[in-house]
Amino acid sequence: MTAWEENVRKAVPYVPGEQPRFDGMIKLNTNENPYPPAPGVQKALREMEAGQLKLYPDPGAGMLVDALAEYYQLGRDQIFVGVGSDDVLAMSFLTFFNSAKPVVFPDITYSFYEVWASLFRIPFRTPALDEEFHIRKEDYYGENGGIVIANPNAPTSVCEGIEVIEDIIRHNPGCVVIVDEAYIDFGGVSARSLLETYDNLLVVQTFSKSRSLAGLRIGFAMGSSKLIAALNNVKYSFNSYTMNLPSIILGTEAVKDREYFIETTRRVIRTREEAKRALRALGFTFPDSRTNFIFARHESIPAAQLFAALRKQNIFVRYFDKPRIDQYLRITVGTDEQMKKLTDYLKAYISAQTEGREYENLSD
Ligand SMILES: *Cc1c(COP(=O)(O)O)cnc(C)c1O
Repeated sequence: MTAWEENVRKAVPYVPGEQPRFDGMIKLNTNENPYPPAPGVQKALREMEAGQLKLYPDPGAGMLVDALAEYYQLGRDQIFVGVGSDDVLAMSFLTFFNSAKPVVFPDITYSFYEVWASLFRIPFRTPALDEEFHIRKEDYYGENGGIVIANPNAPTSVCEGIEVIEDIIRHNPGCVVIVDEAYIDFGGVSARSLLETYDNLLVVQTFSKSRSLAGLRIGFAMGSSKLIAALNNVKYSFNSYTMNLPSIILGTEAVKDREYFIETTRRVIRTREEAKRALRALGFTFPDSRTNFIFARHESIPAAQLFAALRKQNIFVRYFDKPRIDQYLRITVGTDEQMKKLTDYLKAYISAQTEGREYENLSD
């Protein structure tokens, strides 16, 4: 290694799911919403003019912060917005995890946590989830440098009750507890109500899943004004203008349409419950998802084999070749039609396998 190479920051990056883009694909691999954003977003997009882009955007994204403050009944000094919740979470790691004591998150969770901890040289430990993929709350007691919990968790889809989250916060008054609620709108109970009681709680959410705006990159954090001020100090020491103008304008429109948001999340939940029945009938088992995906294993066919067979049909799901979860597929809940294509194909494939026949194509 040359001298300068020794001084390069070594990073092992997060690997996002593949992003295929062609007609006819069934994309159920990165937990996007199958429905378009709210009509107000489409209207504002049409009305936007290129001339608006010649000026810098509002560095505080005030319009978007105000809309979120009103929606969630919080002060505007209790909200921080960023370029997707990945940006908000990375900024939070940098801001709040500066202790020599380890930060704690589960062994099976969003794999970006480990990537950021390594990048920022934050010590961490990863206690194992139990056999049902639930948190053992006692693992989070004691002297910690910080806590990060995805609730519901990814990729397991398991949601902890609010009392488990509160118990962990109560046992950790000496560090910041981050609850990553990327999937909370699909049936979980948010820790937001605990913000009044705990000034060391940071709740992080995203527009990428329940608000159908993965392409826009908007995430936000809710917390005490002290936490939010600390986040802003770090953000303004890094890049003043993180949120671009279209994101501020279109994101605000998305927040304003409460009815559309409720209707589309309901639809996803309805499709998920139907998909659970169909998958169970095919010999799959899974935790009781409270997210927009199902984390399923088959009773006899290896997950890697099912993943490859589906991929050949241009049906994309996610497979993690990792300890404890290498027999599971993470299947995003799409439209009813997409889920029917998925389960129809699985039905034909699985019965052919069970009878020892080769089976490839739906149209055979
Ligand atoms: C999708 C996801 C995120 C990141 O979402 P953004 O698109 O960056 O807002 C964060 N945490 C979890 C657990 C996720 O699944």
